[in-house]
Amino acid sequence: MKTDTKLTTLGRDPHANFGVVNPPVYHASTILFPTLDALEAAQKTKTKNQMRYGRYGTPTTFALTDAMAELDGGYASFAVGSGAAAILAVLMAFTKAGDHVLCVDTAYAPSRHYCNGVLKRYGVETTYYDPAIGAGIADLIKPNTKLCLLESPGSLTFELQDVPAIAAACKAKGVVTAIDNTWATPFYFRPFDFGVDVTIQAGTKYICGHSDVMLGIVSIREERLYQTVRAGVDDLGASVGPDDVYLALRGLRTLGVRLPRHYETGLKLANWLAQQPEVDRVLHPALPSCPGHEFWKRDFKGASGLFSFVLKETPRAALAAFVDDLEHFGMGASWGGFESLMLPSKVDGIRTATKWGGPGPLLRVHAGLEDPADLIADLDKGFARLRAAAKGAT
Ligand SMILES: *Cc1c(COP(=O)(O)O)cnc(C)c1O
Repeated sequence: MKTDTKLTTLGRDPHANFGVVNPPVYHASTILFPTLDALEAAQKTKTKNQMRYGRYGTPTTFALTDAMAELDGGYASFAVGSGAAAILAVLMAFTKAGDHVLCVDTAYAPSRHYCNGVLKRYGVETTYYDPAIGAGIADLIKPNTKLCLLESPGSLTFELQDVPAIAAACKAKGVVTAIDNTWATPFYFRPFDFGVDVTIQAGTKYICGHSDVMLGIVSIREERLYQTVRAGVDDLGASVGPDDVYLALRGLRTLGVRLPRHYETGLKLANWLAQQPEVDRVLHPALPSCPGHEFWKRDFKGASGLFSFVLKETPRAALAAFVDDLEHFGMGASWGGFESLMLPSKVDGIRTATKWGGPGPLLRVHAGLEDPADLIADLDKGFARLRAAAKGAT
């Protein structure tokens, strides 16, 4: 089956459900067992898609996780209540006191927060590495290194990593690799094909695609990691409600038509922005100017709608004049919905393994499904306001 066919087919079994096209939504906490034998059997073994208790999922959840596992090309997937919970579940699953973790310097900020906070408190040390490190990651691996957390492209600044080189170096020393694949989704990048062991996704973003659900997905490539990750997910107890799972399944059906449109519009906006005299640089994986662009070209099948640009030195009042009156770009956290977003973001002072700085503010753009001509006209008016305000400020 090709990917678009998988997106419309996976997780559905209409004829097991009165011919209804979509999987039913099971609301459940208690699961009843008819006999003592059945109860004890369910308590003893922890296998895939087993009905035990609502927190561990129902056939609604399993429809989604089976579909995600197949899209990722892995053995199994788990659904949790947010992308952040998925990250924490993976960090907890693979570490204990005295262990060491490697984390890319450009990781999503809450990933760093978990490493510097809860992991540190429980005696797990983290070393941050330069996203350009490649096979050089081997030099940072210690005898107690258990996990390497990748994210490519990186959050906010979009540096790409040599994922297969890092995965191979880690594998050679017995270190598990996990990657946050929220940006690309398996539609544009399948980390398991490049040697990574675990993928994490904020299903909140493109999988759901409508800015109305919090969801995290963890997928594993091989069965041997099943019990370890299962334990991490179960320990966290962060299960996701069936209505949100249903919305995720519904989002999945149109992922294959939404993402190419986000890609196309994102590139149009990126190229337009690159030509504005107030813009210092555009950070978009599909542009040759993006650090690690060659890895995007080699490993990815496309780009999603999220990228950033950096302004030249800009007074705060001019930045406010630009963003405050944008008609089609909302300002707020998250992304991956049908609507466009524009988020001024601070990167300075977050990174520790690398230095990052721009002459002016960084703005993260999510290119939505609106007509790109309307979006560009909106940005054009924004730059006119920015220019006028900058003149007034000097
Ligand atoms: C949003 C995001 C997350 C967290 O997802 P939530 O569902 O918001 O908790 C994780 N990783 C990346 C790269 C993200 O952008």
